[in-house]
Amino acid sequence: MGERRPLIAGNWKMHGLRQEGLALAAAVAGKADAYQSARGPLHLDLLVCPPATLLREVSKTLAGSIVSMGGQDCHALENGAHTGDVSASMLKDAGCSHVIVGHSERRTDHRETDDKVKAKAAAAHACDLTAIICVGETREERDRGEAMAIVGSQLVGSLPDGATAENTVIAYEPVWAIGTGLVATVEDVAEAHAEVRVGLTKISSDSDAMRILYGGSVKPGNAAGLMELEDVDGGLVGGASLEVDDFWAIAETCL
Ligand code: PEP
Repeated sequence: MGERRPLIAGNWKMHGLRQEGLALAAAVAGKADAYQSARGPLHLDLLVCPPATLLREVSKTLAGSIVSMGGQDCHALENGAHTGDVSASMLKDAGCSHVIVGHSERRTDHRETDDKVKAKAAAAHACDLTAIICVGETREERDRGEAMAIVGSQLVGSLPDGATAENTVIAYEPVWAIGTGLVATVEDVAEAHAEVRVGLTKISSDSDAMRILYGGSVKPGNAAGLMELEDVDGGLVGGASLEVDDFWAIAETCL
């Protein structure tokens, strides 16, 4: 993975009532603490992205731990008449350091375009949040041989000016692999991440240092082969992040 510090991020999606969410956050923090007590500093960043309702309490649960917290989406504006939305400054206020933007479930369920994703990422940056910007092709796009072109154009369209390795992480998530149990082959992932890296050189002066995560049915059994790839700097993990042992087993493949 070169100089880039791995990041394993758990996207809890719309899962977790108070009791189970706080127990999960405490368990992830407990794993990290136990590792550090036994083996020294963890050379890995860990992030959990709970539902908005749990952010403030999870933030308290994680206080003093090296585990960070992120939101799953933010509005592009700071405030206003946008019922049901949450702004980047609200996430920051609740204790977040990161926010996922442009997840394929947002792009599909809420018809989010690259322009919108770019505005959300810019809003995140303005509030000193790291934006995890998701890109990825559908099955049909891959079957038509358009996967790399789609990923390249989403990247160009979704990255705001001023994106750096400090304030931005890219997540390559083939849509057909999310929540399906279908994981992209290591060859496909290697190709896509190399494509993203080359794409980044054209739009950010920080392309070598920017982290690129893989997401899409990452599990303890397939993580090692993915995480060892040259341009894979960690994972965005959905389903498996809801089980602390699975999440931790994935994280351990980066150590
Ligand atoms: C995700 O939610 O970003 C994701 C990759 O989900 P899963 O790991 O369940 O495929």
